[in-house]
Amino acid sequence: MPLAKSRVLSTLNEDGTRRWLYPRVFAGRFLKWRRLLAWVLLGLFTLVPYVRFQGKPLVLLDIPAREFTILGFTFLPTDTVLLALLLVSLIVGIVLVTALCGRLWCGWMCPQTVYLDFVYRPLERLFDGPPGPRHTPGKKSTPVRSVLKYAVFLLVSAFLAHTFLAYFVGVDRLVQWVRQSPFEHPASFLVMLAVTGLMMFDFSFFREQTCLVACPYGRFQSVMLDRDSLIVSYDVKRGEPRGKRGAGNRDAQSLGDCVDCGLCQDTCPTGIDIRDGLQMECIACTQCIDACDRMMDAVGKPRGLVRFSSQNRMADGRGRLIRPRVIIYPSLLAITLSALFVVLIGKQPADVTLLRGMGVPFTELVPGEVTSQIRVKIKNRSGRDADYRVEIVDADGVKITEGTNPISVSAGQSRTETLSIASPKSVFVLGRHDIKVRVTDGGKFDRQYTYRLVGPQSGT
Ligand code: SF4
Ligand code: SF4
Repeated sequence: MPLAKSRVLSTLNEDGTRRWLYPRVFAGRFLKWRRLLAWVLLGLFTLVPYVRFQGKPLVLLDIPAREFTILGFTFLPTDTVLLALLLVSLIVGIVLVTALCGRLWCGWMCPQTVYLDFVYRPLERLFDGPPGPRHTPGKKSTPVRSVLKYAVFLLVSAFLAHTFLAYFVGVDRLVQWVRQSPFEHPASFLVMLAVTGLMMFDFSFFREQTCLVACPYGRFQSVMLDRDSLIVSYDVKRGEPRGKRGAGNRDAQSLGDCVDCGLCQDTCPTGIDIRDGLQMECIACTQCIDACDRMMDAVGKPRGLVRFSSQNRMADGRGRLIRPRVIIYPSLLAITLSALFVVLIGKQPADVTLLRGMGVPFTELVPGEVTSQIRVKIKNRSGRDADYRVEIVDADGVKITEGTNPISVSAGQSRTETLSIASPKSVFVLGRHDIKVRVTDGGKFDRQYTYRLVGPQSGT
């Protein structure tokens, strides 16, 4: 069915029903590179959760524990500055890439596109046959083939759900889930079923609509691009007036290079016509470039009627590479990345927090001696198990009397121990006395913290 002129979305027919898209694929130089990149990315997406770096997973987004491990470094909720810098760098990086190259991420690297265009759609073409012109489905489709197709989709979705969850629960827990009976871990089994269902819904039903209506990045695109950004564009000057060639067309001599074959529409995975100009739905997949090049070859015209270019370059042949945003965004990115690097290398291999003990703030069981409790919370950020010794520096008679010391903490784990501290009553002035607490792992980690003891108002 042709694209509705008064459309709200490229996936809606004029009567409001879903316009299903069955893009035709044409071999070409861009498809070759995209396919190669897609297979590399598919391998990466699948393998990253299994790779360990410095004893930690390369990527683990442990939401219940509120810990994000990226490239062997664990971010905790207390790492506000680090997380903020990481987030800002990410946003500036995306804005920069978009300003330079449009939505290259969407069409070439986003997992949604990679899985849809290089796994699910090829499988669909395998079962249904190649799609016809104007997004008509393949002709081989039969009820039996459809059942088989959806069965394979379900298997792939289950595999994807496992891969996806590995990023959040870790491979060890995932393997445990897979090996055990679902009755032993019903909650996780239900999570797995739900994620499989979501994958199935997304890739077999919702499909390109994720990019068109659900993804915020596409919506922001218009403010991130300028007229010099690289986008997939149709050369209006060269192509118009468009028209079919043939014996019956007497105006053929006055026509532009576009032969109105519609291949660029047939191949578009978001169902648009690139000849309508820059559109929010364009994910820069470049399939229309390959399709048009093929037609140009067939009619003996130079390639590039549809090509990567900028709006300014298309209009007057002149584009600007250097412009304010191309200077400002990289400068901002350099600043945030440098700050991130400095904070990262200054990060200690352990986080220590000193907290007051639960219950009464202090007791005076032995005359002249005040006892209080201190809770020592240690998060071991290093990649190895460590024993942390806690001691009082310049003690003035203050000493640790009870509690586990040193405190053993496994790699990546945290532990809180309560220690009893006895202090001479005479050290307290106005009910307080500041002490220095040293925590060391006998190696690289050796830090001192100031801690305020509370005691009687008068030390005499
Ligand atoms: S218009 Fe071209 S580049 Fe844009 S999504 Fe469609 S086929 Fe891909
Ligand atoms: S593929 Fe090229 S020639 Fe065919 S309709 Fe699209 S722009 Fe015109």
